[in-house]
Amino acid sequence: MNRVVHEEFEIFCGKEIKQDDWLWCNHCHRCYKAHEFRKLRMKGKIFLLCHYEDCHGDLPIDSRPWIKLISDGSRLPHVPEKGTVYHIGLNREKR
Ligand SMILES: [Zn+2]
Repeated sequence: MNRVVHEEFEIFCGKEIKQDDWLWCNHCHRCYKAHEFRKLRMKGKIFLLCHYEDCHGDLPIDSRPWIKLISDGSRLPHVPEKGTVYHIGLNREKR
């Protein structure tokens, strides 16, 4: 990750998300490591997108830190599997 992209990453994600953290995409419901995002440069702007090429999810808008999803006693695995679809009801399954 070059310096410019890394700065964009921090602006979008804040300092609490590390590049090695797992993110869950609210668009395709799959996980990827934060640093595996796709980068799109358009009109001088950099967009950070979901890792998976068939997904148009946006990293800052659609991703959730996996650690936060598993923190409230859910039965999700501690480490998610790459490419696996995890259906997570963000607001529905409150216990
Ligand atoms: Zn996605």
